[in-house]
Amino acid sequence: MADVFTKEQRSEVMRHVKGSRNKSTELKLIAFFKANHVKGWRRNFKLFGKPDFTFPPYKITIFVDGCFWHGHDCRNTRPKDNADYWSKKRERNINRDKEVTQTLQNKGWTVIRFWECELKNESFLRERLHLILNPVK
Ligand SMILES: [Zn+2]
Repeated sequence: MADVFTKEQRSEVMRHVKGSRNKSTELKLIAFFKANHVKGWRRNFKLFGKPDFTFPPYKITIFVDGCFWHGHDCRNTRPKDNADYWSKKRERNINRDKEVTQTLQNKGWTVIRFWECELKNESFLRERLHLILNPVK
């Protein structure tokens, strides 16, 4: 399939995709926290790898990885155009994600990673976040 965008248009589209996606995924988690009376989360907490949400008292930190950018094998990925370019970019992100997780775990953090597409599933969220919903006091 031929690329319907010029180079400039494509980077504009990608900027838009990236920006709007991050915002909506964060809002979804915030809504979940509020609905479940979860307190103590911080955004933009200064930590290696820039996690999306952090619970400093519990040393728990959460990343939401965009399926497209971080290489999830779901329907949100599979670009038809410039496949090589995107697969290299995703490979870099995947390696970086592993490095970040490992580094934080070595420092005693519990790292929870979500795929963007998983946020729709509330019971899944509940399961993955049981540490936060029922923190050990
Ligand atoms: Zn996905």
